[in-house]
Amino acid sequence: VKDFEYAAAKTVDEAVALLASKGDRAKVLAGGTDILVQLRETNREADLVVDVKKIAELTRYEFSPTAGLRLGASVPCYKIYEDAALLQAYSALCDSARIIGGWQIQSRASIGGNLCNSSPAADSIPALIALDAKAHLAGPGGKRVVAVADFCTGPGKNVLQKGELLTALEFAAPQKGDGSHYLRFIPRDEMDIAVVGCGAWVRLDPSGKTIVAARIALGAVAPKPLFAAEASAFLAGKPATPETFAQAGELAKKIATPISDMRGPAEYRTHLVGVLTVRALTKAVERAGQGK
Ligand SMILES: Cc1cc2nc3c(=O)[nH]c(=O)nc-3n(C[C@H](O)[C@H](O)[C@H](O)COP(=O)(O)OP(=O)(O)OC[C@H]3O[C@@H](n4cnc5c(N)ncnc54)[C@H](O)[C@@H]3O)c2cc1C
Repeated sequence: VKDFEYAAAKTVDEAVALLASKGDRAKVLAGGTDILVQLRETNREADLVVDVKKIAELTRYEFSPTAGLRLGASVPCYKIYEDAALLQAYSALCDSARIIGGWQIQSRASIGGNLCNSSPAADSIPALIALDAKAHLAGPGGKRVVAVADFCTGPGKNVLQKGELLTALEFAAPQKGDGSHYLRFIPRDEMDIAVVGCGAWVRLDPSGKTIVAARIALGAVAPKPLFAAEASAFLAGKPATPETFAQAGELAKKIATPISDMRGPAEYRTHLVGVLTVRALTKAVERAGQGK
């Protein structure tokens, strides 16, 4: 590892000032499960690493059934899926937090770090997009809010400007009839990078039989995680049946532009989009029916 300075910021303003002072040569450190590996493998260098885990606002979360969830950017994964209230309200988020690495990784890795690392195959991002999460950013120019669906711009790239950091992720309050699920396909049972990932969120009407609104998001089939807009819009007003889910899967396949690599050829990944969309919707609807 090339030597770098380390600074632990205590406030968001301090972190912003530290990051702005070094421009591209400063990196944020949350759980470190991506950035430390990258610095060691020297595909990235830094003069200054700014630890944001000592900033109270970033390491806590607040949830109320009426106000929704404000998730500090550095909250580790295990805290999310161990909370029964979050498990019920934001199941897809918990599904993704539970499969990011093993439990050692989950005890440090944050959803904020997963998002800011902006891997096309990152597990939390399709879940965040399906849940329509909003990213709160702070930087030298002030604060702004960006929909997670618009956050990533390419592999490892996102809308963060120099000196800017993610402070929190915001989720709307769940309503009766909501359900969500995230799943990925990997050739092993655990600890692998998604060949394809799919997040789905649905809102059912009081009968539990008709979809009022839905959001589908895909990972690992394009240079960045995708919101499947046409497939999502198609589902509104449709009966929650296997036929409907299969049609949504076909629409989702239309936006997939995957690469072929050692994990699988492009045609296989596109096929998987249809399969995973059906499975994600099926589980999301089942959870919506159970009030989960
Ligand atoms: C063994 C192993 C298994 C893994 N398995 C998976 C997996 O199954 N699925 C998966 O998706 N990922 C996996 N990962 C990757 C990694 O663990 C996740 O991406 C994790 O969520 C990153 O979070 P972190 O807090 O450790 O981020 P860090 O490594 O601290 O940061 C990641 C990136 O985000 C930036 N960053 C962090 N926080 C902020 C912020 N608040 N504002 C601005 N920028 C910020 C950092 O500068 C860095 O560029 C794995 C990694 C390892 C080592």
